[in-house]
Formats: sequence, structure tokens, C-alpha cells
Amino acid sequence: MTVQQKPIGILGGTFDPIHHGHLRLAIELYERLDLDRIHLIPSAYPPHREQPSASAELRLAMVQAAIAGVEGLVADDRELRRAAPSYMVDTLCSLREEFPERSLCLILGMDAFMGLPHWHQWERLIEYAHLVIVQRLGKLLPMSEVIRDFLNTHQVTELHELERRTAGAIFIQEIPMLTISATQIRALLSMGKNPCYLLPEHVLKLINTHQLYR
Ligand code: ATP
Repeated sequence: MTVQQKPIGILGGTFDPIHHGHLRLAIELYERLDLDRIHLIPSAYPPHREQPSASAELRLAMVQAAIAGVEGLVADDRELRRAAPSYMVDTLCSLREEFPERSLCLILGMDAFMGLPHWHQWERLIEYAHLVIVQRLGKLLPMSEVIRDFLNTHQVTELHELERRTAGAIFIQEIPMLTISATQIRALLSMGKNPCYLLPEHVLKLINTHQLYR
């Protein structure tokens, strides 16, 4: 199927809280991949890690506050409308139902990509979307045999491959990444320190209003 419109990017995360690392990543990819938009999807009940500190509703509110008025970024609440656990394969399936003819690009950090075989029904992800793997400039990690075979089967090196079909390709994009993590921000707040400049001011206001991460 030839795709008529620009691809839609999908960035899932716990966003506990969302920070400038996530936002720069999203904007860099929106521009470099010439995406139509990126859906930021808070994971309501992440299956692969400890449950987040802030509620899913507050994490969604922080995402909405962070991207208000920013072209190309959209807050997507679909995982909050589903029962636990929040499997990515179900999220992609629902996006595919909503956008049957669009190219969909699931954005994954290289670390997440390496751990993909632990995800629920991981081999089906690529039936619903392309995978865009982001890695820091010049940072190459050793790969397991399963992941290397998966990559060899699906990797493309030309960007236009993501526009030519709706799913099924893996594209690796090197980008500069800010060394900011939500863990670092939660740690600063729990010690009573000020995390300003690591995350948008509106997000910090919400954190203070709701006394999060104390
Ligand atoms: P935590 O510290 O709680 O594990 P986090 O800061 O890594 O959280 P997540 O919500 O787990 O944030 O990340 C969502 C997505 O954003 C993941 O794909 C992750 O690789 C990516 N990401 C996180 N931090 C950065 C950053 N500083 N630069 C670029 N991408 C990032």
C-alpha cells in the first residue's frame, strides 16, 4: 500500500515526570523524520517496571502542560482508557485500527530495543508499526543474537522507506540526547532540591501544586 501522508510518530513512556530530554527527543525526531506529528502516550500501568510514583491522570496532565501550543506534539490518553497492564502491542493495535492507512513509527531508545524480547508479543509490534530506534551519537551497544537477527531482517537505511509503507521497517536514528532522567528529577525533589531547567516550568508548577515526589 502506498502511503499518502507523512508518518505518525509514537513515543510511549512513563513520563513520571515528562522532562526536556523527552521533549527534545520528540522535536528532533519530528523535524528529522519529517513526521506529521508525534503522539506522546503515557503508560498508564507499565508492565515492565515499578509502578510510577504519580497517578496516570497527573502524568497525562503534565504531558499536556508540557506540550501545550507546541506544533507537532500531541498528548494521547489511550492507555488510560484501557485496563491494566498497558502493553505496547495493544496500543499499536488501537492506533492501527484508528489509522488503517497511515505509516506509524514507534520510537524506542536503543536500551528499550535491546530488551524488546521481554515485551508482551514483541514480534507483533512490527506488524503494526515501523520501529525507529534512537541512539546517542556514536554510542554503539553490543546486541543479543535475537535482536541482531530481528534487525537484519527488517532494517532500512533510507528514510523514505518509512513513508513508502505503513509498518514493518526498523530505522536507526542517531541524535544528540540531553542527560536528563525522570529518576534524577524525582531524586532532586525528594531531597527538597530545585529541578528547574530540567523540565518545563508548567510541569514543575503542577508538581508543586500536587506535592508530587516529596
Ligand atoms: P525514569 O528515569 O523514570 O526511568 P525516563 O526519564 O527514562 O524515566 P521514560 O518515561 O521512561 O523516561 O522514557 C520515555 C522514552 O523517552 C524512552 O523511550 C526513553 O528512552 C526516552 N528518554 C528518556 N530520557 C531521555 C533523554 N534524556 N533523552 C532522550 N530520550 C530520553
